[in-house]
Amino acid sequence: MIQRVKGFRDILPDEAETWRQVENTAVGLLQDFGFSEIRLPVLEKAELFQRSIGAHTDIVEKEMYTFPTSKGEMLTLRPEATASVVRAYIEQKLYAKDPVQKLYTLGPMFRRERPQKGRYRQFYQINAEAFGMESPCIDAQMIFLLWTFFEKLSVPGLTVCINSLGCPACRPRFKEALTGLLAEKSKDLCADCLRRRDKNPLRVLDCKVPSCRAALADAPAMIDYLCEDCDRHFKTVLSLLEKQTIPFRIDPRLVRGLDYYTRTAFEIQTEQLGAQNAVAGGGRYDGLVEALGGPKQPAIGFAIGADRLVELMLQQRRPPGPVPDVFIAPMGDQAIEKAYAWSCALAVLGFRTEADFENKSLKAMMKRADRIGALQVLIVGEEELAEGAVILRNMKTKQQASIPINGLVDHVKRLLMRPSEIKTG
Ligand code: AMP
Repeated sequence: MIQRVKGFRDILPDEAETWRQVENTAVGLLQDFGFSEIRLPVLEKAELFQRSIGAHTDIVEKEMYTFPTSKGEMLTLRPEATASVVRAYIEQKLYAKDPVQKLYTLGPMFRRERPQKGRYRQFYQINAEAFGMESPCIDAQMIFLLWTFFEKLSVPGLTVCINSLGCPACRPRFKEALTGLLAEKSKDLCADCLRRRDKNPLRVLDCKVPSCRAALADAPAMIDYLCEDCDRHFKTVLSLLEKQTIPFRIDPRLVRGLDYYTRTAFEIQTEQLGAQNAVAGGGRYDGLVEALGGPKQPAIGFAIGADRLVELMLQQRRPPGPVPDVFIAPMGDQAIEKAYAWSCALAVLGFRTEADFENKSLKAMMKRADRIGALQVLIVGEEELAEGAVILRNMKTKQQASIPINGLVDHVKRLLMRPSEIKTG
């Protein structure tokens, strides 16, 4: 038996419904907030991620699926979407049409992480990116949008964590202070943090190893080192969120694992998924468009981790899978032919229809209709055909009705329509 690849999973129909609900809610809301869809390839040049995410990040150092083409060019299965959206913004000259672009995209990302609950090697994100806006209003609005999204899905127990990562003007001073402390605490740091200390010191702040956390209990906070502009920006974002009564927590340890972030960085966290506590994350990346060869344009974005969100929702409530409105149980070739035509017609009318074309016994078909939760069963055998009427059995009440074959689809349609649908016509 060939099995799926480790860290990659199948999403089965009983979960897919919740996925669809998540995606539809996100798309509806994003469009209401003025975002347009962009669809992007899952394969990009490796260099795109090396230059954007940063060479000394976990993703680029350890987690990318990268392979050479026959010509020796290195390609990577995208580990995240922001870099690709920025590439398209530049390559397709979207900025020339209007520097303000609000784009969303949905799809799979790939990271070679150690698989565990809530962490997969192929996972799905819903991404939103807003280009060309410097105002703190857009930072607050992105967070408001996320909060509204989770509220719409009734996901409880979430916290907005927020921080400012400053800008190239103020960050060096903070880095200096942090590096000073890291030098003092070297002996308490894990091997990963010792490496990070030299190459990417900010990352030490979000190390989860208890000894590192203890060593850095009194670490300096970036928000105490912000320049005047960054400070004003951050305070405005916070005040806008306060006015909208969005509960947030300032987390001076929040640095996010990617190098391109500037100023506002945020995560939506839950306590219900163990170690994998972030269901969404994002932030500003004002320097990235220019760094990748585009015009100087500010930007901000977020990614919702759909796998984790669906897991949270299923913990709350596992919706019953879809059930057929009607199951057609025909006996004999002539009845099967009728069942075939009726099943097509009823499905086109919007009823979830299942028919059995396998010439099974009535008992076997009734058993199957029951197993799959069919609401009604249409029974048609030689006798019914001869009499010109079939039986419609309500599986819940066990009541049976006789339906004339002449005009059957219309009759069934009327009987199956829910009261609200009848009212509206
Ligand atoms: P990041 O791009 O790392 O900020 O991730 C954004 C969101 O994607 C996170 O908040 C998670 O919800 C989700 N995510 C990231 N990595 C994984 C993974 N390996 N498996 C499942 N979800 C993930």
